[in-house]
Formats: sequence, structure tokens, C-alpha cells
Amino acid sequence: MNDLTPISDVAIPKIGCGDLPVLRERGQREVFCGLTGIVWLHRRIQDAFFLVVGSRTCAHLIQSAAGVMIFAEPRFATAIIEERDLAGLADANDELDRIVDQLIERRPDIKLLFLVGSCPSEVIKLDLSRAALRLSKRYTPALRVLSYSGSGIETTFTEGEDACLAALVPELPASPAQSLMVVGTLADVVEDQFRRLFAEMGITNVGFLPPRRAADMPPVGKGTKYILAQPFLAGTAVALDHRGATRIAAPFPLGAEGTALWFKAAGRAFDIAKSKIDDVLAKPVARARAALMRQRAVLEGRTIFFFPDSQLEIPLARFLSRELGMVLSEVGTPFLHREHLAEELALMPADVQLSEGQDVEKQLDRCRAAAPDIVVCGLGLANPLEAQGMTTKWSIELVFSPVQGFEQAGDLAELFARPLRRRALLKV
Ligand code: SF4
Repeated sequence: MNDLTPISDVAIPKIGCGDLPVLRERGQREVFCGLTGIVWLHRRIQDAFFLVVGSRTCAHLIQSAAGVMIFAEPRFATAIIEERDLAGLADANDELDRIVDQLIERRPDIKLLFLVGSCPSEVIKLDLSRAALRLSKRYTPALRVLSYSGSGIETTFTEGEDACLAALVPELPASPAQSLMVVGTLADVVEDQFRRLFAEMGITNVGFLPPRRAADMPPVGKGTKYILAQPFLAGTAVALDHRGATRIAAPFPLGAEGTALWFKAAGRAFDIAKSKIDDVLAKPVARARAALMRQRAVLEGRTIFFFPDSQLEIPLARFLSRELGMVLSEVGTPFLHREHLAEELALMPADVQLSEGQDVEKQLDRCRAAAPDIVVCGLGLANPLEAQGMTTKWSIELVFSPVQGFEQAGDLAELFARPLRRRALLKV
């Protein structure tokens, strides 16, 4: 972090993202499937229900990733495809209709139902989009039924959210009005902070996708400018472009710098005066920088290695290197969306080792050789690496936690500092 440079003066260097070399690998990968997105999506859309059409493995994955909620009525479940279905002895559509009928009878509070495809539903070629149309007709207007795939054949980890939001876009109401749409799941507290700052800047017609409630879907049309809050929403962006909306290019709102540049890009898109934007951002930027200074003592000069998992890796690496002085050993990402990440790549150190895709054994060898102070990886790799003496951070935690925005910048840094402090205590 450069303490002396006002963030309002930080300019994104004009280098092409193609200038950074990228190691591309297409081998065995260790990544969760897209069902995982249900864990944070069901918390966000509070009157939605996610019905996975899958196997006991799928049910187990969701329950262990989300934690079993004993006291609350859960808002996700798995319709188990039994062997009879797989063998074609039962009509899976009839079974699905019966399960949905039971669910809606018991839970009339559900306003939006997602049928979520899985590997088994793909294997038996169950057409969930047709099932969703059929069920939507049956329950309209009380309930909307949509479908998307979270299958491990088609999606990894955060691609499930992308598929879910892309399924929502055709359902958004049409409006030609000038509006800003923030796209990507955010914690409610982060949405409230962002709304307040946009309002202070003078931008009041702001919608969030996904919204907290199904009835609050943001309108879209030629007057809509959207800004991504998450870097893994390629399909959703294409769907919004088709509805006439325009993307605002920006880095992602992680850390004081990333959040400031994100707000500045939105402000510029709505012709807000630079002095006004700077005034609004000055105090939150100062608070975020003060919080980061406390963590910098732990993190500065420490090396970090990212395995590809959530697609948040590049914005996180940018934040950790520029604002906390961490040294990047390797930054792996499952997919590198050059257009959406152009502003991020322009802020990365010129000598950074980027990798896209995975050949897990080769990457593990590189990680062991680099011997980083901390490794960011999926749950499947964390335990073996910890057993080999490495300090790890689960990438899934970085997606679950409220980390975007100024007020969360210190908490985000703390997520990396804590494992290092714990390891230091264990060594004493
Ligand atoms: S969707 Fe596929 S990869 Fe994901 S839990 Fe189910 S079977 Fe496993």
C-alpha cells in the first residue's frame, strides 16, 4: 500500500493485459462443482428455494458446505435421483412434479424456485428447463420456477452463481430508464453501504442482482449501466448485454484501492464530478487504509500462492500485493476472462506468474518448490498441504464472507493474517 498517494490519483496503467505471461494448463483439476454457489445464493435471495435434482453425493456436498441448519427451515434441498430413475424405470418428470407439489404445499412462502441440474440429471438427460416452464405455468403468479446447471461436468465452484444469475436475466422487468445495476452476490450489509455511498454521490436509481427478495428484481434496458461486483459472471454479463445494458469496466471492490476505483468508475459513467466522488470517498478510504495498516505488519513481505478455484484469485492477489505488500509466488485462476479482468491485470506486478486452468500434480510441485508462507486453495488440497507443514486459506471462505467494500477491507486482510498468526503460535 502506498500511504502517500491519494487513491483519487491512482491511475490504471495503460498496459494491455496480454502483456502478462500466462501459464495455461489443461490437466486434472481439484475444484468444487457449481452446486456450491447455492450456499451463498440461498442466504441472499431470502424467498428463493434451490432444489438440486441430483444424487446423494450432491446432497452431501451441499449439506457439508452449508452446514446443516437445524433450527431454520432450510431453503435448499436435493431431489434424489434413485437407481429406478437412472435405469429409466420411473418417469423422472412425474417424480419431480410430485416433489415440487409437496414442497410448495408445505412452503407457500417460496416465491422463486430454482431447479438446479447436476451430473446425474445430465446423465439421464432430464430437461430441467422444460420442467421449469411446465411448473411455472402451474404455479403462476404465486411462484416462478427457473432452472440452471450446477453440474460438475459443466461448471466449477463460482460458475454456479453465474449460471443462476444468467437464468434470472431474461426474467428482469424491462425499463428504458437510466439506472445502475450492481451484479454479483453481496452480503446485505455491503449492499447497504454501497447504496449509501452511491446516494451521496448522487446516483439513486440503483438495483442489485441478485436482490434480497424475488419481487425486487432490478429493471434492465438500454439506459442500464451495470458494474460487476464479482469477477466470475461472464455468462450473466453476456445476458445483460443482450438486454441492452452496458458494462462499466472497473477493478473489483476489494480493498481500499479496488473499492475506490470501482466507485470512481461508476461515478464517471454517470457523469458525477470528480471532486464530488473524491469528497464522498475520502473518509471511507481513510478508514479502510487505517484498518489495513494494522494487518500490514503481519502480511508485508510474506509470500502467497493461489491455486485456481473461485476466480477471485486475481483481484485478491492485486489487493494483497499492492495494499499489504505481500509477494505473489503464483496466481492460479480456473479461467482468465481478459476483458472483465483487464483493469485488474493492469494493476498486477509486471513479473507476476499467472496460471490458467490446472494440472494439479505439476502445480503442487511448483507450490512445494516455492515454499510460500500461505497457500490459498480448495478444501480438497488444504488438508494434505497443512499435513506437509504449509499454512493454508480455504478459498471458499473468501466467497462466503462479506469482503467487498471499504468497511470490510480490514476483515479481508485479517482472513489472510489469521492463519499466519496461528501458525506462528503453533511453532512457539
Ligand atoms: S453435481 Fe456432480 S460434481 Fe457436483 S456433487 Fe453432484 S455428482 Fe458431484
